[in-house]
Amino acid sequence: MNYAEKISDQVGKVPRSGIRDFFELVIGRDDVISLGVGEPDFPTPWNIREAAIYSLEKGQTSYTSNLGLLSLRKAISKYCSNFFDVDYDAASEVLITVGVSEALDLALRALLNPGDEVIYHAPCYVSYSPSVVMAHGKAVEVTTRKEDGFALTPEAVKAAVTDRSRVLMLNFPTNPTGAVCSREQLEGIAKVAIEHDLIVLTDEIYSELRYDDEKHVSIASLPGMRERTILLHGFSKAFAMTGFRLGYSCAPAPLTEAMMKIHQYSMLCAPITSQAAALEALENPATMEVVEKMRLDYKRRRDFMVRRLNEMGLECHSPGGAFYVFPDITKFGLSSKDFAMKLLEEENVAAVPGNAFGEGGEGFLRCCYATAFDQLELAMDKMEAFVGRL
Ligand code: PLP
Repeated sequence: MNYAEKISDQVGKVPRSGIRDFFELVIGRDDVISLGVGEPDFPTPWNIREAAIYSLEKGQTSYTSNLGLLSLRKAISKYCSNFFDVDYDAASEVLITVGVSEALDLALRALLNPGDEVIYHAPCYVSYSPSVVMAHGKAVEVTTRKEDGFALTPEAVKAAVTDRSRVLMLNFPTNPTGAVCSREQLEGIAKVAIEHDLIVLTDEIYSELRYDDEKHVSIASLPGMRERTILLHGFSKAFAMTGFRLGYSCAPAPLTEAMMKIHQYSMLCAPITSQAAALEALENPATMEVVEKMRLDYKRRRDFMVRRLNEMGLECHSPGGAFYVFPDITKFGLSSKDFAMKLLEEENVAAVPGNAFGEGGEGFLRCCYATAFDQLELAMDKMEAFVGRL
């Protein structure tokens, strides 16, 4: 059978993930130090795991309401009010999803008509452009630059706007650059969004993981923005709960309802065990103490990585958040893919080629520091030896 003919044009247009390609080479090799996968190395805090077990023990194995448990939506609403400074109605404006990944997909499918344009800043999370394409939209990349600390400027957004622009997608702190955005910068971007009547889809999954002692600001909290913003957040990163697959969106009721229409027929609801665990995460104040300990540990690792990389000649800005560093490798004259392959072959250290994150990522390497400190030390020694030979 000619399977290529059977597969939809939309899926045909989407490339294989550069990260997946690279990591297939590494799977099953325990001699490799991985700075690759963007996933906390800490176990999920014990009280959260215990809540999941207890929920199973109580026999909670059913579907929940499509929107998710009301108790969890209430806890999320309270959390967003405290943390993001935005109030959402738990009954009609919070939708619990299978990770931020599902929320992102729902939002794009709910908003886009074929050919509508989505402006996003890159280097960015690998899913953005393919998700836009699969929702029949056109992905419009605005490249951010190392010289600006990979910040997004209002001017760059404005220059990308056309009469087909419908959505502006943001991600601060950013995967893979760790860039953050100040209130002033966000105010400028918000002005452009209002002027051009754009819906803003903001993925703030790393928002607790900031190291610059600035309070995280969500664009949703700025004047005039709540009504045009879909805020995405979840439990994977700060709470070390990737495998629970739990996220949520907060948005005005008509937007939430539009996303819900798809969710009710596709996913039905997020897993009840994960929802019980997430409720514990938000309701038990002890969780935030563990989250803070993890944040301080990431901060120590960030400082170490930035220092070592710069000392060995891999120029690297100090990222304000998330758990990635993004050193510049251009001076070695190798493509990011060749650099990463050679590093893997010669030193058994796996890092992701920057071009996996969009055109603007070429010439960089993403190193994730959500890895034990002694492994990071070893990886830096090996990278130093490698760079010394180039
Ligand atoms: N958004 C960003 C920016 C990410 O880096 C990731 C995972 O790496 C996700 C979303 C996926 O989140 P989730 O595990 O909640 O689906």
